[in-house]
Amino acid sequence: MRIFDPHIHMTSRTTDDYERMHAAGVRAVVEPAFWLGQPRTSVGSFTDYFDALVGWERFRASQFGIAHHCTIALNPKEANDPRCDGVLDVLPRYLAKDGVVAVGEIGFDSMGPAEERAFRRQLDLAVEFELPAMVHTPHRDKEGGTRRTLQLVEESGIDPGLVVVDHLNELTVGPVDAHGCWMGFSIYPDTKMDPQRMVRILQERGPARVLVNSAADWGRSDPLLTHATGEAMLAAGFSDDDVDRVLWRNPVEFFAQSGRLLLPETDDAPAPDASSLFEGNSILRGQQVS
Ligand SMILES: [Zn+2]
Repeated sequence: MRIFDPHIHMTSRTTDDYERMHAAGVRAVVEPAFWLGQPRTSVGSFTDYFDALVGWERFRASQFGIAHHCTIALNPKEANDPRCDGVLDVLPRYLAKDGVVAVGEIGFDSMGPAEERAFRRQLDLAVEFELPAMVHTPHRDKEGGTRRTLQLVEESGIDPGLVVVDHLNELTVGPVDAHGCWMGFSIYPDTKMDPQRMVRILQERGPARVLVNSAADWGRSDPLLTHATGEAMLAAGFSDDDVDRVLWRNPVEFFAQSGRLLLPETDDAPAPDASSLFEGNSILRGQQVS
């Protein structure tokens, strides 16, 4: 099983995690810039963090055989702090760098006006730099936040195929799918999605535009839940090829739109399997799964 975790905060994780991830098949990751738990008080602590994402963490991952990419943004939570406004002005410098494969995490936290301003401006930057956008959905009022998110995405004029709306669940996936955006699911030990719920969503909707991530960070989380989801898919009758599509080829397809993915040669791609559950599902749903 080869795995590309499209949302994981490795800065918060140990070398043991890198070793366990590699043993489980993880060969590539995307690390979104986000909130560090402790509020930052100046633009300088953001630029140090961004430099670590494009430099040190990338090097650290490479020592464990994992290709590291990142996304850069002012996160929704700190968009509310006027001391962080200047971060928006330094973003263009980072969005031009190798290894930066999207603008993110952007979006809503408490859905205030400052967040909305930062969200709009960063969607504009994604359009300007021709990069994908990774959009975080709020943990409270998830449905309202997702609706408003899709409105702003539409108003920005960005191609929905360049947008992943993340941390979805059974209630929020429908509108995001209808909009043509990519659908991100974070598999957590005891909140958000778990592997079994993820399998049911895949059985109902098929694999198109689905990204599965661990979103592992400094909170209670598990970098191996992508692998656990692959195992749960196999146990439910999905083929190796189905698992490869969801855990590898989908994130590759999405982030390759940046033109900046650097991936290792992987020798463990499964042979295409005609008995795929997805093919059956796509017939049932009367849709073509490409
Ligand atoms: Zn995150």
